[in-house]
Order: sequence, then C-alpha cells, then structure tokens
Amino acid sequence: MARIRLDHIRHAYSPELAKAGNYALREVDHAFEDGGAYALLGPSGCGKTTLLNIISGLLTPSEGQVRFDDRDVTTLSPEARNIAQVFQFPVIYDTMTVRENLAFPLRNRKVPQAEIARRVDDMLKRLRLETRADRKARGLTADEKQKISLGRGLVRSDVNAILFDEPLTVIDPHMKWQLRSELKELHREFAMTMIYVTHDQTEALTFADKVVVMYDGEVVQIGTPEELFERPKHTFVGYFIGSPGMNVLPCEMDGDAVVVAGHRLALAGGRANTASGARIELGIRPEFVRVVERGGGLPAEIEKVEDVGSERIVRARLGGLPVSAIVAEGQPLPADAALAFEPGALNLYADSRLVERTGGRA
Ligand code: ATP
Repeated sequence: MARIRLDHIRHAYSPELAKAGNYALREVDHAFEDGGAYALLGPSGCGKTTLLNIISGLLTPSEGQVRFDDRDVTTLSPEARNIAQVFQFPVIYDTMTVRENLAFPLRNRKVPQAEIARRVDDMLKRLRLETRADRKARGLTADEKQKISLGRGLVRSDVNAILFDEPLTVIDPHMKWQLRSELKELHREFAMTMIYVTHDQTEALTFADKVVVMYDGEVVQIGTPEELFERPKHTFVGYFIGSPGMNVLPCEMDGDAVVVAGHRLALAGGRANTASGARIELGIRPEFVRVVERGGGLPAEIEKVEDVGSERIVRARLGGLPVSAIVAEGQPLPADAALAFEPGALNLYADSRLVERTGGRA
C-alpha cells in the first residue's frame, strides 16, 4: 500500500485545449494517506473521472507528478502501479465461476495453488459469497457481480489502492444501501486506500472518512462530512452538501456587520478582511434558520411549506432573496413571519471562498 501524492497536477485533453486555457483539471495538489477511505464528489463534468484515471495510470497528466510514496509513477500503467479498479459495470468473466474469478488475479501473479485456495476461501467468506462459490458468474445479480470485481482487488496482497468509479450505478436501489455498508466494513477490515468517485452526496458521506469535493476542474474542499457541513470553504460545497443546501445570500460589508436585503446583521467572530471589490455572500444552512413571529428577526414572506417526514422545509423570501428553513413537524408557523439566523452558524464568503475571521468560528 502507498501514500498517493498528486503534485501540482493539471490536465487538458489536447494541446489546443491547453493553449486555450481549457483544462479539465485546473490544479490539484493533494495527498491521499495510506489506508484512508476517500470519496471524490462533484457534479457531472467537474473532473472526477479525469482525476481518478490519472491516479490509476489510465491517463498521463499534462502537467505535474503522481507519486506513490517516494516513487514517481506518472507515466506507469495501472498494472505497474498495482491499482485495482471497480467500474460502473462489473468487470468479471461470466463463463468462470465466482471462485475462478477471484483466483484469476492470483494465478496471473503465479501465487502457489495452496495459497490461492486459502485466500479465495477467505474472500468468499468476507464477501458473503460462499453459497455462490461454484456458480458461473453469468447468473449472478449485479450487486453480487460488483462484489466479485471488488474481491478481485482485495484478494491481492500487492495492491496499492482500490479505485471505484460510480460503482453503484447499476445496482438496484434497495441493494445500494446494503452494498455501501458492506464496502465500508471491508474498508475497516482491510484498511486499504480506497478512492470512490460519485456525484451522490449520500454515497460519498456514508463511505468516506474524507470527502474531496470537486467543482469545475478544481478541488474546492477536502474534509470530513462534519467539516463540509459546518464550515463549507466554498459556496458550492454549501450548496451541494445538505438537503436543502446552504442558503447563499448576496450582501455588503458594513464594518463588522453585513447588510442583507436592506437589514444589518452583526457577525460573530470579529471583523472580516475582504478584498475591496470582492463579491460578498452570506451562507447559512436551513438547519440554523428559525421561523419566528414578526419582530423576532428579519421580516420575510413564507411562500411554500414542504412536508418531508419528521420535519418541514419552509421556503421563504427575505426581500427578493429565497431562503429555506428547516422546522420541526408540528411547530406553528406565524402568519406574519420573520427569520432568525443563528449567529454562530453564519459563514461569510468573498468571491465564493470562505472568509476566515480572527477571534471567532469563521
Ligand atoms: P461525470 O460524472 O459526468 O463522469 P466527471 O466529473 O467524471 O463527470 P470528467 O469525465 O473527468 O468529469 O470530465 C471533465 C471535463 O473533461 C469535462 O468537461 C469533459 O467534457 C472533459 N473530457 C472528459 N473526457 C474527455 C476526452 N476524452 N476528451 C476531451 N474532453 C474530455
């Protein structure tokens, strides 16, 4: 296993695109620690697959270096890097049995027969596929096939990392949850570096210890699910993580306060130093917006209330700005409403980036 270091990686898919400044990856400088469970999360086209293929060796970056521990592997193939991959569609041999599929990578590496039998039996148990061991892979369900794809990586002792590219795409919705928690368990057992590409925040947040959020060819934040929720470093992270996402409200600085929709709001945590001319926005998650009687906050109009089970989402307007709030089921909503923002939960952004403030939480 290895620490994977991406050293100032940039990638354009052709010299013409590079010349035009059109980079699929604009700059990625980051290390994946040995044994970590990571998710690469972001919308379609943000560069997740490009980054994954650069890590695996399917793609050589236009600029920068990929290192496994101290070894430069930038131009090495996936085989030479000892990377195992699980794709959207299971890559297995339909005409072989489950046991033969799992043994295949070990046979290729000339592992002694007795050792193969031992490791395959162990893997069948861990994947809970013992009862399928001698069946042809052809007849299995998609989730069972995907487990075999994964098993073919886990069974090897020389693998540096396992990379997953949207591995649950073809899995039935009711099996997704189960397979995801099995993946998590397998990661705990094997402590192998796993990097998992998805555009689904639930998948990312449940699988990964650290989530790498990508947007428009860049990594905008790397953090634990809690960090992404509490302190989104970019407005995109706030918007993309959470349901509904963070409210992002244009505002203006006024000393150590901001003016939002004509209302002045004091900021906890001290004065913010923002560059003059920067686009300033206030971020507040719907979980920290309370709907109160007029007089208790900023006057607002309630436009819609959505019932989502144990709570309700209130869609309101503050001046012309849409604001969402999450309120408990059964909480009465005033006819003349106002919104109260929890001061400690306000985040300030300049040109979409979090403004760090001295003396406070943000
Ligand atoms: P998705 O979730 O849709 O797979 P992604 O986040 O994985 O998206 P990439 O597939 O890495 O994104 O694509 C990043 C950018 O690079 C996109 O603008 C895409 O159009 C472009 N791109 C990807 N592959 C190629 C290619 N072979 N040639 C030219 N451009 C490409």
